[in-house]
Amino acid sequence: MLSLEDLGITPAMAGRLQKLGLCNAFDLILHLPLRYQDETRITPVRDLFYGQTACLEVEVVETQVLYRPKRTLRTRVRDDSGELHLRFLNFHANQVRQFSAGTRLRLYGELRHGPLGPEMVHPKYRLLQGQDPLPETLTPIYPTATGLSQAALQRCIARALALEDLSDTLPDAWRTALGLPAFQDCVALLHRPTPGISLEALDQRQHPAWQRLKFDELLAQQISMRFHHQARLTQSAPVLQCTQAQRNRLLERLPFRLTGAQHRALEQIESDLARPYPMHRLLQGDVGSGKTVVAALACLHAISAGFQAALMAPTEILAEQHFRKIEHLLQPLGITTVWMTGSLRKKDKADAQQHIASGAAQLVIGTHALIQSAVSFHALGLVVIDEQHRFGVAQRLALRKKAGSAGRSEPHQLMMSATPIPRTLSMSYFADLDLSVIDELPAGRQPIITKLVNDARREEVIARVRETCLQGGQAYWVCPLIEESESLQLQTAVETFAAISRIFPELRSGLIHGRLAPADKTDLMARFSQGELQLLVATTVIEVGVDVPNASVMVIEHAERMGLAQLHQLRGRVGRGSRQGHCILMYHPPLSALARTRLKVIYEHTDGFEIARHDLMLRGPGEFLGARQSGTPLLRFADPEQDGPLLQEAIRVARTWTETDPAAARRHLQRWLWSRQEYLTA
Ligand code: ADP
Ligand code: MG
Repeated sequence: MLSLEDLGITPAMAGRLQKLGLCNAFDLILHLPLRYQDETRITPVRDLFYGQTACLEVEVVETQVLYRPKRTLRTRVRDDSGELHLRFLNFHANQVRQFSAGTRLRLYGELRHGPLGPEMVHPKYRLLQGQDPLPETLTPIYPTATGLSQAALQRCIARALALEDLSDTLPDAWRTALGLPAFQDCVALLHRPTPGISLEALDQRQHPAWQRLKFDELLAQQISMRFHHQARLTQSAPVLQCTQAQRNRLLERLPFRLTGAQHRALEQIESDLARPYPMHRLLQGDVGSGKTVVAALACLHAISAGFQAALMAPTEILAEQHFRKIEHLLQPLGITTVWMTGSLRKKDKADAQQHIASGAAQLVIGTHALIQSAVSFHALGLVVIDEQHRFGVAQRLALRKKAGSAGRSEPHQLMMSATPIPRTLSMSYFADLDLSVIDELPAGRQPIITKLVNDARREEVIARVRETCLQGGQAYWVCPLIEESESLQLQTAVETFAAISRIFPELRSGLIHGRLAPADKTDLMARFSQGELQLLVATTVIEVGVDVPNASVMVIEHAERMGLAQLHQLRGRVGRGSRQGHCILMYHPPLSALARTRLKVIYEHTDGFEIARHDLMLRGPGEFLGARQSGTPLLRFADPEQDGPLLQEAIRVARTWTETDPAAARRHLQRWLWSRQEYLTA
């Protein structure tokens, strides 16, 4: 791969290119035009029509500088067939000199109605001396930034195309079998198409040249994942297995029986844990599907085998809740669970750290504090990460790296998420992640009833909440989201709480928000969960994981401001017990088209997968995956949804190729992803 320096690009120019993310020859080659200009043909002035953009060859008749109403350069030009005016508002003094009568110009611009008849304003122009052959290909127009001219960028890219090795990475036989053109031809064509090519096919990215680029990109991604997969199989991890008796003791302690889907997921996890290489599994299940108990069973396997397990959750409330539940389950089996968060007092933290280091803590549950450097494990065998999409790759990696003296082995990894990833996306982005899906809710759950209510009808909502609470139920009242400012958000929450307390003087209510001290949050959640509080006014801090089965009504104010995933998560907080769950989405009109669509989706669907599919359509894969957070490199050219057939081929080819000719596969990977390798290894 040639560097910018190899291309003879000056350091100053290289700096400008790097600002556009163009750091080597291949980056330049993949910097494709936004559109093209056809300067291959000269149109006679007489044949021009208004609104047409065309290339002309003319001679200057006269040039004037006008000062009123504005400083303007006006030039009359003609060819054999007719005349027109050129108008420039910004011009240099030497431009006036250049445009002397008789000068020949080649112009590219759009014909408009001017005050003196047909004119072009600020056409692109070139002075002609003698013969100046027309280009044979369309002229590319690239995305660029200030300080980097089209012409300079065009020159750099042309040089990259000329000097870089663009020989095919795909064996010819495969390439023809797939019906794809040669790589070099594709990039040459995309940068400099010949006239007469269907600009529409280029625009829609359906042209074979585009198909080839998309295929290569998908293939590189799949190859990278196959290599990771292979690398994982060569790492060692402890074999974690508990006895049947221990497993049954835990199952017997549950007040319910596992659903079939929970059993299936558990069996998949158990068979992974029994293998001597690290598990890398995502446990996906809609909110309320019962992932926690499956995770607890996985931890039991690790602990029984003499290793430690760690469970990390994104918020203190959630971690705390896991701690209470799981400790309750595991303590009777003689298992020591330790709690670890940033808010622990110094001494408690030191104690916890010491227990973790000595191995006395068999299970550690906590927040990000778990990955702080002061924590080191004695022998970490299993890492469980709840709501994995809320953590960045680096954070997940950091926890895995704390395996401790378990030695040269890696811990197994179980990730959990309630945000389902549509199949095409998971095939393309998570190919080295095995997937278990809990696709069944525990029996007896009634579907939640969702209502959309204009906030002018507040009174009715208030009546419903009062009735529920007076009949022994509990309710959440979710404050409006204010994205712009956290302090405004807090203020709104405080005001909402004051208003609610006035409206419901007879109810015991509490306010929970992100700025509360962790101990206060814990205390409030405990009081709500024990039924002491009937009404919990909350910001979206309760979005993830909060589990209070007796709470059956949720009111969400300004639901139109929230995203689909957030609404679905919030709604999942109710309908967890035997009472019929109600979710009341209050909105404030007028609604934007997007808000209207979102509310319609959440109203019509309860299935998380269906909601995620809509969410993906509304937001696109980048936003959907939260790429910046997860570190997954996004595809630039291909779209796994639209390019499904290419993706299928890429998966097939990657599988064979990495087995039969890994060196060639690696060469392809390097061409495409060399600068992004870092992301992919995470
Ligand atoms: P999530 O998958 O959203 O993390 P949880 O693990 O918090 O769900 O489980 C939601 C609720 O369902 C909890 O109260 C849990 O005890 C309960 N639960 C889990 N599995 C079952 C089951 N098989 N039958 C009945 N209730 C269950
Ligand atoms: Mg959960």
